[in-house]
Formats: sequence, structure tokens, C-alpha cells
Amino acid sequence: MKMTNQEFKDYLKKIRALAEGPFDEMQKEIEVTNTFPQEFYKLAIENDLYRFALPEKYGGFGLSEKQILMVQEEFSRGPGGMRMHLHHAADLDWRILDDFGSEELKAQYMDKFQDKTIYANFALTEKTGGTGADVHTTAVKDGDYYVINGEKTLISHTDCSDFTYLIVSTDPTSDKDSRLSAFFVDVHTPGYEIVPMPHMMGCRGAGHAGLKFTNMRVHKKYLLGKEGMGLEIAMHSLAVSRAHIAVSNLGMAQRMLELTIKRAKDRVTFGKPLIKRQAIQQTIADMGTEINALRLMIWDFAKDYDAGKDIEMKAAMCKLHSINTVRTVSDAMLEIFGGIGYFEDCEYGPVERLYRDCRAMWLEEGPRTVQRLTAFRGLEKSGGVIEYLED
Ligand SMILES: Cc1cc2nc3c(=O)[nH]c(=O)nc-3n(C[C@H](O)[C@H](O)[C@H](O)COP(=O)(O)OP(=O)(O)OC[C@H]3O[C@@H](n4cnc5c(N)ncnc54)[C@H](O)[C@@H]3O)c2cc1C
Repeated sequence: MKMTNQEFKDYLKKIRALAEGPFDEMQKEIEVTNTFPQEFYKLAIENDLYRFALPEKYGGFGLSEKQILMVQEEFSRGPGGMRMHLHHAADLDWRILDDFGSEELKAQYMDKFQDKTIYANFALTEKTGGTGADVHTTAVKDGDYYVINGEKTLISHTDCSDFTYLIVSTDPTSDKDSRLSAFFVDVHTPGYEIVPMPHMMGCRGAGHAGLKFTNMRVHKKYLLGKEGMGLEIAMHSLAVSRAHIAVSNLGMAQRMLELTIKRAKDRVTFGKPLIKRQAIQQTIADMGTEINALRLMIWDFAKDYDAGKDIEMKAAMCKLHSINTVRTVSDAMLEIFGGIGYFEDCEYGPVERLYRDCRAMWLEEGPRTVQRLTAFRGLEKSGGVIEYLED
């Protein structure tokens, strides 16, 4: 189902209204319960938020990567936990199976993502290992099955998932990248266990927990790609997702800027609105400059993505810059709001929640050290040349 330009613009408006209206309102309770109500999933389905990013053949709108990121910018203005859930739905949830699943698995499951008949979390991080390849969960072949043992931590969406994309070691004695493999695991498989974790600082409701696997037998047909492709699958999938993290930061930062300007216009000190003070004007100019640069970097990434270019370096750069942006903008927002910005239910909007929610972005899809490494590898390879595609 293709959208006309006008339909797409209307859709963006609808998603912004949803994020800043019913979603914001619902989040007040979620901050305490840490669980999405069924009403959230219902609204997300009704507003095509599981469907919009899918290719047309799987029930999607056939949008370009730029359009997908534009939709994500709009819902990222809302609560962080919902943003995390919907960002995942727009990307890793279905993309890994589409890119690396067998034809049999794709035929069975790909048309089930569009209305959340199925939803799949992504489990890489471990307590006993570092970010990325340092994986200790093992899968040992036994006839047509793999027997999986180990634990994952900090995993999002564990409470609403039907499957897990699981990264494990199929060759624990090796130190080569090819020791890792990836599986698409049904959460109902015996031996699969969810281990609760405490509430997070922000992004509440997104079902964070640990996962434990005890002698979990998974049929070989659920292997993604080939044995030994686990790291490639994780890194390729996370590369795209990093640009989606960057656009999440963009959506949040844009809303923070708008709230800040509104407050600075209203707040009068010593007989003048804050917005008339040069010091405040300079800060607001810095906020807008960071945001504008980030938006252009993301659209540049999207152009490369749609042209089939290698996007790892630019996706990492987008995420890296987006953290700088959201840090500058969230600090400035809180400073300009003064004391009322530190309280829940501020009359202007969820200032303190936005500040808490955005801190997760330092970690999602890897910390800054990892982004810098990826950016560096790209620059080393190109000798410092950063290609720009003309329109
Ligand atoms: C809200 C949230 C959602 C998440 N969702 C998921 C999920 O769904 N699935 C999943 O698999 N993971 C998930 N994670 C985990 C996330 O990917 C990790 O937190 C992140 O990759 C950092 O790993 P770590 O927490 O183990 O930090 P550590 O690896 O302990 O790193 C701590 C610090 O040390 C630095 N550091 C680490 N190693 C080095 C090094 N070699 N050289 C220099 N500096 C280094 C890091 O940059 C970081 O600043 C989530 C995390 C959060 C907070």
C-alpha cells in the first residue's frame, strides 16, 4: 500500500499527535507500573506503527529509509520506553529475519510482524562479557538440534516478545569471529527463562530483563544465515539500527528545543522574558545548530542506505553525533527551565522525563567507544574520504 506525499505528511502529523497526546498521558502510569497497558499496543497497531517500515510484500507501505526515519522522529517525541519498542518494531524486529532467515522461516513468519502477531527481541549483551563479540552463551550441536546454555542481560522487550534473535558461541574454544552464530528462538522453548531486573532510570515500560537458557534445544532450521555468521549478523543489523537511535535522539532533541523556546518566551525575570537575554539566545542558537547538523547527517545516511552503499561508518557517526546533540540540548533545556524543569508534570511538557529517557541512548546499540571504533575503521579504509552522494 503506497502513500501519496500528502498522505505521508498527514501520517507524520498523526503520529506526532499520538506521541504527545495519548502516549504521553499513558506514560504517567507506566512510570510507576513499568508495563505498557494493552491500550498502547492497540493504538500502535491501529496507527500502523508495526507496519509502516516493512517492505510492501510483507504488508508495509514501501517507504524509503528517509521516510521511515521521519516517522521515527515523530514518535520519538513521546515517551522513551514506547519509542524504544516502536524503534525496534521499525527495524531489528523484522529486519534480521528478512536479511538472514531461510526461505522457510520467512514464508512462515514475515507477514506476522505487520500487526504484532509476532514480535522478536534481540539478545547479545552478557554480564560476563564485553560489548559485541565477547559472548559466552554456548550452543552445542546434538543431531538436528543445538543445545543452548547461558545468560543474557539488559534485554529490551522481553515481556511482549514471541521470539528472540539470540547470539551464541557455537565454537567456544576458538578466538575467531566465526565462533559466533545467531538463532531465531521461540520464547516458549523449554529451558527459556526471563530473569526480572530493577526499574530503569528512564524509558520505562520497555520490558527490560535478563534471559537464562538451560539445556534449551533449538532445531537447526532456526539457525540464521550459516553457522559462524553470528557476529556478522549482529554487527550488520546493529549498524542500521544505530541510525535509528540517532533519529530517536533527533526527535527528543527537537521537542526539547521547542519546549525550551516556549518556556523562555513565557518566563519573565527582572522585567524581561528570558528569550530577550543574549545569553539565553546564544544557548538556543547552539541547541538548534546541533539539531540541524544531526538531521542533515541522518538524511545523508538515508540516501546512502537507499543507494545500497556501505553505511556502517556513517551510521556510527550519526549515533556518535546524536549523543553529543542530545546531551547539549537536554542540559540546556534543564538549565533554561530552571527549577520547574526538575519536577514531574511540568506544565510545559515532560521535561524531566525527556532528560531521563535520553540517557539510555549512550548505551543502546553500543557505547560511544564502539561507535568511534566503527567510524575509525571506515575512515582508515577510505583514507579519510567521506563520500557525499549528490541528489
Ligand atoms: C536501555 C537499554 C536497552 C538495552 N537493550 C539491549 C537489548 O535489547 N539487547 C542487548 O543485547 N543489549 C541491550 N542493552 C545493552 C547495551 O547494548 C549495553 O549496555 C552496551 O552495549 C554497553 O555494554 P555494557 O553495559 O556491558 O557496558 P561495558 O561494556 O561494561 O562498558 C562500560 C564502559 O566502559 C567502556 N568500555 C568497555 N569496553 C571498553 C574497551 N575495550 N575499551 C575502552 N572502553 C571500553 C564503554 O564504552 C562504557 O563506557 C541495553 C542497554 C540499555 C541501557
